[in-house]
Amino acid sequence: MLNQINGLHHVTSLASSASENNTFFSQDLGLRRIKATVNFDNPEVYHLYYGDKVGNAGSVLTYFPFPNMARGRRGAGEVGTTAFSIPTGSMSFWRERLHAIGAGYAMPTHRFGEQRLEFYGPDGDHFALIEAEDNRTPWTTDGIPAEHAIRGFHSVDMRVKDVAPMIELMTFMGYDVSAKEGSVTRLVIANGNAANKIDLIEVPGAESSKEGAGSVHHIAFSVATKADQRAVQSALTKVGYRVTDVRNRTYFHAIYFRTPAGILFEIATDEPGFTADEDVASLGTGLKLPQQHEKRRERLQQTLEPLKDLKH
Ligand code: ZN
Repeated sequence: MLNQINGLHHVTSLASSASENNTFFSQDLGLRRIKATVNFDNPEVYHLYYGDKVGNAGSVLTYFPFPNMARGRRGAGEVGTTAFSIPTGSMSFWRERLHAIGAGYAMPTHRFGEQRLEFYGPDGDHFALIEAEDNRTPWTTDGIPAEHAIRGFHSVDMRVKDVAPMIELMTFMGYDVSAKEGSVTRLVIANGNAANKIDLIEVPGAESSKEGAGSVHHIAFSVATKADQRAVQSALTKVGYRVTDVRNRTYFHAIYFRTPAGILFEIATDEPGFTADEDVASLGTGLKLPQQHEKRRERLQQTLEPLKDLKH
């Protein structure tokens, strides 16, 4: 069993409009846009990052907005819901806010004794707000004071046809089964970061999901260093997973592998972090390009959709 993984690092999803995406997460939900760059493998498309003040692991939601992309289909073999943690007692603030911004939401429910409010993003993306004890320092905005602001991720839900092979993988990665409730199995990493929970939801009869706008593309788990990443890469390879080479993503190093449920996992380093090419005060304010795409800057500045508060 591995002991290098700390919990979630980031969640990366697909969207159909960069400007709607930017407004929803940085204005409506009050996350900080910590980086505006491009998809390193497809620089015609933005890669937008939102999180806390510096983009600590476990707070970072990222999007690839493909203009006019069709919506995905919900089903088995995907990350179904991305859940944020909010302070205890702030549920009514968020219900009012979701109502005010026109986001769809469901009546609050309970799972494992926690109150959760499910709501939808601009592409029908499934999210939840969960009241939890969480001492992380939030990013705050004019409309969202610290007493209510999102702390970072609480967990993600994965919808799978068969939980057994996923439980085997997750426990190999360092998670423990902590509780079961109906079709939901909760896994937790002891001594992990604050985003150390995963809920597996067994949906044996469900149709397979189809990726599109509003779908989660992959989730990344945090390791502190490249040495930890190498250890995880070698251990996963030894038990039969086909793990990619290390990719330099400027703000972290990444390896990827496909899980038995078909969900794409990444292992990402906490180093060097989002201040690698911008200082803390100006994070997310300029269009940052990796070196290999710098020569395309002028053209990209003309073709990428202008975003509020982004200097091109
Ligand atoms: Zn990633």
